[in-house]
Amino acid sequence: MIDQLKQKLGEVTENESLASHTTFKIGGPAKYFFEAKTKDDLVKALQTAEELKIDYFLLGGGSNLLVSDQGLDGLTIKQSNTTFKITDDKVYTESGALVVDVLDKTLESSLVGWPWAAGLPGTIGGAIRGNAGAYGKAMSDITESVEIYQKGKVNNFTADKLGFKYRHSVIKETPGMIVVAVNLKLKKGSTEEVKKDKDQVKIYNDRRENTQPLDLPNSGCVFKNIDLTKIKVDKAKVIKGLDITEEEYAEATKFDKLPVSYILDRLGLKGKTIGGAQVSEKHGAFVVNTGEAKAEHVIMLISDIKMRVRNELGIQLMEEVQYLGF
Ligand SMILES: Cc1cc2nc3c(=O)[nH]c(=O)nc-3n(C[C@H](O)[C@H](O)[C@H](O)COP(=O)(O)OP(=O)(O)OC[C@H]3O[C@@H](n4cnc5c(N)ncnc54)[C@H](O)[C@@H]3O)c2cc1C
Repeated sequence: MIDQLKQKLGEVTENESLASHTTFKIGGPAKYFFEAKTKDDLVKALQTAEELKIDYFLLGGGSNLLVSDQGLDGLTIKQSNTTFKITDDKVYTESGALVVDVLDKTLESSLVGWPWAAGLPGTIGGAIRGNAGAYGKAMSDITESVEIYQKGKVNNFTADKLGFKYRHSVIKETPGMIVVAVNLKLKKGSTEEVKKDKDQVKIYNDRRENTQPLDLPNSGCVFKNIDLTKIKVDKAKVIKGLDITEEEYAEATKFDKLPVSYILDRLGLKGKTIGGAQVSEKHGAFVVNTGEAKAEHVIMLISDIKMRVRNELGIQLMEEVQYLGF
């Protein structure tokens, strides 16, 4: 297989460590690994995997992943296609560009409208697929259209065809739908508006720095917050389990969400450690890699937490992080 892949794609390596391609710094080797430096490379790699009937995984910034210690079979395609173009207020960016780089460049060109993306790890492709966002805003707010590879061809989809919802899109639920490039819609800002966005970017970056354990490898929030508009919880049980008053419950859930970091803090689970995996002291919804964490440690820690929360509050926590190779 390696010879066929090399013949079609050129440089394909074997047993590339995926730990070095994820923000968690965890994960075994990719059997075959190819870095797509252009959109054409990316399309070719996808077509080749389909032609050769080999499983593939498309890697962005690796900021939402827990890769197993055994690694991944098949072909891992790393997106390093970062071509980017601004024409007036139109922004065209390939999928492998980092969100934070695109944000910087658009602000340099006086385009405003998405300071909320400050400090958002990962690529444009990953962000579109999961409709990444912060502070009540998301990629769907600034996306005009998306070039998508599917079954050998690339087609342009307007944003309204992509079923964007909270941290969700049609792309996420349709295997084989791959973002290769995106057209963003932003606004040409006045000097004051640009300054306002730049100031806001700094505020959001500082906020992440102050509230998230950015000094240790992690994969963001491991669990989804409990959306009380969709999930029914036994309020009396939660209040008793968390040992809080009615008023404290009302305060904690004032945005119709029960934050996981709040739950884990109240249950005394912050700092809980298995091997090199630890529930962050700084932000309870993050698991950090204190140095030598294996995927196995993270999985055991997550399982323990889920069981405690299930038993004590009657709530089933759901993972935000994506498992790969398990
Ligand atoms: C410290 C930290 C803070 C975070 N804060 C936030 C936050 O505030 N808001 C938020 O929404 N998320 C947050 N995240 C999670 C993460 O940044 C997002 O989910 C991000 O959009 C993932 O992009 P990625 O390129 O890293 O994707 P990866 O982790 O590499 O991949 C994730 C999934 O997307 C798929 N994918 C990647 N590229 C494409 C593509 N071009 N087409 C189709 N599928 C693709 C992959 O195959 C995989 O299934 C945070 C993560 C960290 C580590």
